[in-house]
Amino acid sequence: MDTAWPQTWPTQAEELHTFDPKGDILLLLGRRLPEDITDDMNCLLSLLSSLNGAEEIESSSEDTEVASAEEAALPIEPFEPEAPELGFRLHQTRPYSPPMPSYSSSSSASSDKELESRIQQVQMRVSSKHLILASRTFSTMLNAFSEGRVLRTEGKLTLPLPEEEPDVMIIILHIIHGQNRKVPRQVSLDLFSKLAAAVNYYHIQEVVELFSDIWIEGLKKNPLPTSYTPEVLRWLFIFWVFRKEDGFRNMTRILQRESDENLWDEANAVPTIPASIISTLQKNRIEGIKALIQVIYDIINKYAAADTLCDNDQSACDASVLGTIMKSSAAMGIWPQPERPYPNLTYKAIVERIEEIQFPETCVLDERRYISYGSIHPNLHGIKEVIGTLIESLENNMYGLELESFLPTQDKERL
Ligand SMILES: [Zn+2]
Repeated sequence: MDTAWPQTWPTQAEELHTFDPKGDILLLLGRRLPEDITDDMNCLLSLLSSLNGAEEIESSSEDTEVASAEEAALPIEPFEPEAPELGFRLHQTRPYSPPMPSYSSSSSASSDKELESRIQQVQMRVSSKHLILASRTFSTMLNAFSEGRVLRTEGKLTLPLPEEEPDVMIIILHIIHGQNRKVPRQVSLDLFSKLAAAVNYYHIQEVVELFSDIWIEGLKKNPLPTSYTPEVLRWLFIFWVFRKEDGFRNMTRILQRESDENLWDEANAVPTIPASIISTLQKNRIEGIKALIQVIYDIINKYAAADTLCDNDQSACDASVLGTIMKSSAAMGIWPQPERPYPNLTYKAIVERIEEIQFPETCVLDERRYISYGSIHPNLHGIKEVIGTLIESLENNMYGLELESFLPTQDKERL
């Protein structure tokens, strides 16, 4: 029922997905077999590939229609936080993808062979028209690059996408080809963040929007994180990719307040979160902690001065306030002044520790200690209110980031 399989294409793989029976592009992906069955499968697979598959895969690299395999089969590079992430980059790194061997590789190194034997070829027959209409990335690739030249001159193209996970691409391609009934209505957070990475890479937010809203609603049946868990970074990425202002603000608020100096490392474990988001979060965290320390130091300086601040003119009362704040600050790691980037400190933890400071009841003439139900009043001369008000004034800067500041320019007009 398929229209003729172009003779210049590699033979049909065992796993072939046909999104368009007349499709003019054959995507070549690899399915990584689960590690635990690898040992059992290895012998079988190398036997099978020696019988039929391997030669065809290798010979396809010499086929004229494989478009510049060096260009398409990108090396896996480490995530570069400094890289400009808002611009359009066709071949940007996909950090979550497992390394895959290039289809063009004719290396006889045994490690390559071993790896290849754990990768099953997956083919996807697709329509260039659909790809070009839906995706800015495919549009550029198939119009301007060498892939586009091959497609125009030959009328067909094989395109290796070794970094893509087949199950992610199957969902994406069903959506791109308008086969909506085949698109799952529920996805796990793990799969969703991989989908988001693909959506971001191929610039297909608009085509996927209907489904991404459904997926978000489905996952929201479990409450979104309200404190820093590994899920926060995944949600941050999803909310950024799908342009959800409230969710983005909430996740960045958590990270500003609860991350420590290791945020970069933690962010690297998640699909490409724009470096500017992480660096802004880090900067705001440092500024927030610096401002908190300054609040405490201002109080210390005030109480360390010669004037008596106690309502009852008891300098011993001032001394005990001063001592309490200094000792509490030492216990929470902000006295003496810590160095940036304030290792092991989080904004939230410092605020909580400050709120927990217990001031001693040494001021015998303080009437207010007897006010509340006749018990000892822990709030000596209202100092806790003073500190509380000062901290409150810092909160505006820790409210989370505005999505619009982190969008590519062409997207800002849409909001
Ligand atoms: Zn006093």
